[in-house]
Amino acid sequence: MSENGHIHNCVIIGSGPAGYTAAVYAARANLNPIMYTGKDPGGQLMITTDVENYPGYPKGVRGPEMMDDFREQAERFGTKVNYDFISKVDFNGPVHKLWTEGGEEIKAHTVVISTGASAKWLGIPSEQKFMNQGVSACAVCDGFFYKGLNVAVVGGGDTAAEEALYLSKLCPEVHLLVRRDEMRASKIMQARVEKAENIIIHWHTETKEIIGDESGVTGVRVFNNQTQEEKDLDVKGFFVAIGHTPNTEIFKDWLDMDEAGYLVTTPGRSTTNRPGVFASGDAQDKIYRQAVTAAGTGCMAALDAERYLTDKEII
Ligand code: NDP
Repeated sequence: MSENGHIHNCVIIGSGPAGYTAAVYAARANLNPIMYTGKDPGGQLMITTDVENYPGYPKGVRGPEMMDDFREQAERFGTKVNYDFISKVDFNGPVHKLWTEGGEEIKAHTVVISTGASAKWLGIPSEQKFMNQGVSACAVCDGFFYKGLNVAVVGGGDTAAEEALYLSKLCPEVHLLVRRDEMRASKIMQARVEKAENIIIHWHTETKEIIGDESGVTGVRVFNNQTQEEKDLDVKGFFVAIGHTPNTEIFKDWLDMDEAGYLVTTPGRSTTNRPGVFASGDAQDKIYRQAVTAAGTGCMAALDAERYLTDKEII
């Protein structure tokens, strides 16, 4: 915890792959970083089952186990991990101020933001019940487990189109559930979806209930929102792709962000519009959203923080 008046070299907000990678780099550069994990320590990977696409784990790894490894590596070099939530910031600078939910004030020369994004969910009880047992928000992460099985994808944006296309290469049938009579996705993505013979688009269709048993999802009950007619689809996987929300609300008075709330960084860098404030991971990335890309940008943010501190002769 911060003693009164002490100014930390580097405070990291968030504890997913971006935050922990920033912590490893910052700690090894002797910046004595402190991390605030947020309300869901470990981030989105804590709700993933097996991670098979993170280099260095040839046999795959459970998401929570991987995040334990990240934490252990960050702590090994002296990162102080606080299981607390930052609820307010003041980036007026040059010294940045942050407040925990309990009202503790922390001062820092540099701040690395790695607060991530949260998948949006439909909010029906059966979705929660079968979470990670057939219900997923990431085809690239979990699609492989449904190889040879039929799946459904909910959504009509670029994410849904991308997930449906990805799954169409693994699954015999992909049922795309679109709630209107048109998709929001870009024309080129729509054309690809329409061209894929095994993607079946269900227009005006919403989810009533996900059906399953102790083995996981076995189907989905959908309804046409024009006729109210219901039908059951025989699927083993249910992918929700209705968008993500970046966790950037507390920065809105200070940092440039796009209309969806993603932080804007200098292309190819982690710098934001405020000196000494760096952004990494899904809080600034709506395109790739992978653990490995988040880790890469976490590394960039720590290196940018270290250079900033050196240039300002703070270290
Ligand atoms: P979007 O907000 O663009 O689309 C969300 C989709 O989900 C819409 O079709 C929306 O329907 C539907 N939806 C929302 N809520 C519900 C609900 N409760 N039930 C059923 N359907 C629902 O989100 P995306 O994640 O697709 O994209 C976000 C941004 O990221 C976009 O700017 C996109 O272009 C970009 N992106 C770019 C990619 C790329 O360039 N490769 C890949 C992925 C995303 P409705 O249209 O009726 O509101």
